[in-house]
Amino acid sequence: MSLEKKGNCWMKLILGGDSAVGKTTLVENFVYRDLGEQYKSTIGINIMSKKMDFPQWNSKIEFAIYDLGGQEIYKEVRRKYYLGASAGFLVYDVTNPKSFANIREWYREIISIEPNILLVLVANKIDLEKDRKISTQQGDALAQELGVQYIETSALNRDIVDEAFSTLAVLYIMRKTKVTQDEVKIKTGWVY
Ligand code: GDP
Ligand code: MG
Repeated sequence: MSLEKKGNCWMKLILGGDSAVGKTTLVENFVYRDLGEQYKSTIGINIMSKKMDFPQWNSKIEFAIYDLGGQEIYKEVRRKYYLGASAGFLVYDVTNPKSFANIREWYREIISIEPNILLVLVANKIDLEKDRKISTQQGDALAQELGVQYIETSALNRDIVDEAFSTLAVLYIMRKTKVTQDEVKIKTGWVY
C-alpha cells in the first residue's frame, strides 16, 4: 500500500497489558477529548474510531481502536481480538513491577497471533513520580530486547496521550511507505 497515492489508511489498533495499567484511560482521552464527556465503559469490547491528519504526507490515518473490557481473563477472546490488528500498545504501569514483568507474556501472546504487528511499549502513569518503581532505563532496555519503540505517558495528560498516538501513526507510515527516519525528521521535526 502506498500512502502517497491513497492519501489515507485505516489501522486496527489493540492494547495489551495487565488490568488497571491505564489502557482504557489512554484511548478514551485520545478519542473523546473533544466531546467533554466521560465515556462509560461496558463489559466486552469497545471499538472506537478516530482520524489523525498528517498534512506532511498528505495523509490521514483512521484508527479503529479495540479496547478489551471486562473479559481480559479469557485467552480465547483475546486471540480473536488480536486478529487483523496492524498496531498495538503494550502498556504497563511504572508503579506496578508485576505489570512490567508481564509485558513479555503480552508480547508473546500478541505476536503469536499477528507476527507482523507494529508494537510500541508504553510506560504509563509517569505522573506518579513518588511511587515510580520502574525506571526509564529499565523500560528502554525491555523495548530494545523486544525490538519495539519505547514511550512514556500519563494517560491523564491529553498532550502526552496525543503524542503516543502520533508516534505510533508515524512509525506506521514509515513502515508502510518505507519513509526513512531522516525524512520524518525533515518533514515533522520529530526525532524517533
Ligand atoms: P485498564 O484496566 O488498563 O483499562 O485501566 P484503566 O484505564 O481502567 O485505569 C485504571 C485506573 O488507573 C483508573 O483509576 C485510572 O484513572 C488510573 N490511571 C490510568 N492512567 C493513569 C495515569 O497515567 N496516571 C494516574 N495517576 N492514574 C492513571
Ligand atoms: Mg480497560
